[in-house]
Amino acid sequence: MNSRTLLADAARLLGDAGIESPRVDAELLLAHATGRTRAGLLTLDRVDDDAAGRFAALVGQRADRVPLQHLTGRAPFRYLELAVGPGVFVPRPETEQIVEWALTRLAGVPAPVVVDLGTGSGAIALSIAHEHPGARVIAVERDPDAIEWTRVNAAARAAAGDRPVEVLSGDMTDPRLLTDLDGRVDLVVSNPPYVPDGARLPREVADHDPPLALWGGPDGLDVVRGLLTTAARLLRPGGALGIEHADQQGTALPALVRAHGGWDDVADHPDLAGRPRFATAQRAGHHSAT
Ligand code: GLN
Repeated sequence: MNSRTLLADAARLLGDAGIESPRVDAELLLAHATGRTRAGLLTLDRVDDDAAGRFAALVGQRADRVPLQHLTGRAPFRYLELAVGPGVFVPRPETEQIVEWALTRLAGVPAPVVVDLGTGSGAIALSIAHEHPGARVIAVERDPDAIEWTRVNAAARAAAGDRPVEVLSGDMTDPRLLTDLDGRVDLVVSNPPYVPDGARLPREVADHDPPLALWGGPDGLDVVRGLLTTAARLLRPGGALGIEHADQQGTALPALVRAHGGWDDVADHPDLAGRPRFATAQRAGHHSAT
């Protein structure tokens, strides 16, 4: 089969199925089916029947709204490529920005202690470990299926030479979580479940991301309320907190932090698309910021 014809047909089929970026998805799936990089498709002329069959099956699944990243098994995030699949939340590009913020806060701190609450694939924790080699990073996950993926990704990054991230099974709202680190943590970061109950989500998300990673109660902030208590306990005075949130929570989440008490410099930040995306604060106390 001719690769250009295959791609054009697949892109049309995906476009008709309402997929947002049909051509890119078709190229990434053909690359996956033929064992090439996307750029490697430029020199691909003929596709053999086996690969064409695999490609057709993948395109069919994508048209049926299986996430692209589940089909390739990989999700790019900052400098890393994470293993993902059923059972774990697929990391999103809009989450890359909170890592940038964290690294800025940690710049100049040679050996910070960092806790990522609700780590999922490990995207935030592993990126911080990769980009701040001095950091001790602890990644917490309550979902027994998701944490299998955390462990796979953490092992891969450790094997690649990054400082190992400590993976801990636990709930971010549990008062007994990591009590040995009370008052000793420099930075707490989280992409918690924050979708308000009943919100309409794309099928890729609703049918394939784990419910535990998405739903946050009536206003989406139930888990965040518990997270604030845990972060307040773990952080040292002057330690930093960053929490991702939904488009509609850019006022409500900072207000919740202020109302919780004991936080300074509460601020909200947009993502690269300009939508309100994460709130930050500093634990009150006498020490200077990280
Ligand atoms: N941003 C996610 C979405 O696309 C929700 C993530 C979350 O709840 N942490 O639905």
